[in-house]
Amino acid sequence: MAQILIENVRKEFGSFTAVQSSSFTVEDGEFFMLLGPSGCGKTTTLRMIAGLELPTSGQIRIGGEDVSQKPASQRDIAFVFQMFALYPHMNVRQNIRYPLISQGMKRREANARVEEVARILGITDILNRPVGGLSGGDRQRIALGRAIVRDPKCFLMDEPLGALDAEFREHMSHELRALHDRMGATTIYVTHDQLEAMQMGDKIVVMNHGVVEQFGVPQQIYDWPATMFVADFIGSPPMNFLRFHASLSHGDTHVGLGDHRCEIPQTRQGANGDLVFGIRPEHIRIRTEGGYRARVTATEYLGTTQIVMLDTAHGTLKARAPSGDPVQTGTTLGLDFDPRAVTLFDAKSTRALL
Ligand code: ATP
Repeated sequence: MAQILIENVRKEFGSFTAVQSSSFTVEDGEFFMLLGPSGCGKTTTLRMIAGLELPTSGQIRIGGEDVSQKPASQRDIAFVFQMFALYPHMNVRQNIRYPLISQGMKRREANARVEEVARILGITDILNRPVGGLSGGDRQRIALGRAIVRDPKCFLMDEPLGALDAEFREHMSHELRALHDRMGATTIYVTHDQLEAMQMGDKIVVMNHGVVEQFGVPQQIYDWPATMFVADFIGSPPMNFLRFHASLSHGDTHVGLGDHRCEIPQTRQGANGDLVFGIRPEHIRIRTEGGYRARVTATEYLGTTQIVMLDTAHGTLKARAPSGDPVQTGTTLGLDFDPRAVTLFDAKSTRALL
């Protein structure tokens, strides 16, 4: 079992706190994404799990065992970096075999393991080639091969596809996910790419400024963002925010945006003051009469859909509409919001209210 438990883990570098007290659980066999913008503390979190940094406080448990103060060598984890360093004087087979030989495994047994890993990764035909001159994809497969050959309890990957071009990156991400599904080892994968996180992950932790903003399955994070940061970071275009002022009671089912009444999911708490009405672009319907008033400022053609940029009394919006909808820049029209898809936030705390 390789469940990974992060409990109130915190990391300070001098007076700077890179990771605030963070908690989340990675279940055995999960493909788990650590997602957030540059500098939010993803790599530091991963390095603490690997044992390359020790937490200032808190506990890390792997398979039930407290490893918080143990060195990397005693954690049975493999680390795959973005900048994969291969040994240039060794061929592909020797590169993959290296961790086994340095652990003292017999050459014969090690070679059998390498053959097996090469089959999984589809690189059997290049095993005897020198690594210089191989493509980025092959080099990445070799780096992966070197990580999986030891058959560790878990894999930690820090933007492993970051150095590849977009098309190949997409291809490798499918390969990596398929590889995980075959091997079933717990994997934690760092990325700043929300789409990659949504497509690949069983679960996602979203971090910002060293804080865990939300932790859950991709759909939950997309549909029920816990904070405005998450709502804005996930989705393309991201969730729209309309700012308004209201006094809401527990159980309310409507809010007023100016004189327009919008249905919302029934509130579970009261709220008073500056609020934010959150709605994703695909949950806005454009109509010719009635509805919430908005002026079209621009449109962006995307093939089957178009993004319609709108100005309203409470802020700007982007709506995703079928391309066939006739929408003229400069005209005023009405909007409907899917009431089940509305999220309300407190403007000050930026936390979701519903
Ligand atoms: P990126 O995607 O850019 O790698 P990240 O989310 O992985 O970002 P971290 O590398 O974890 O972020 O860094 C978080 C913060 O901690 C950054 O502000 C970084 O400068 C700081 N930091 C990281 N390592 C150290 C260190 N050894 N000493 C001082 N500050 C550090």
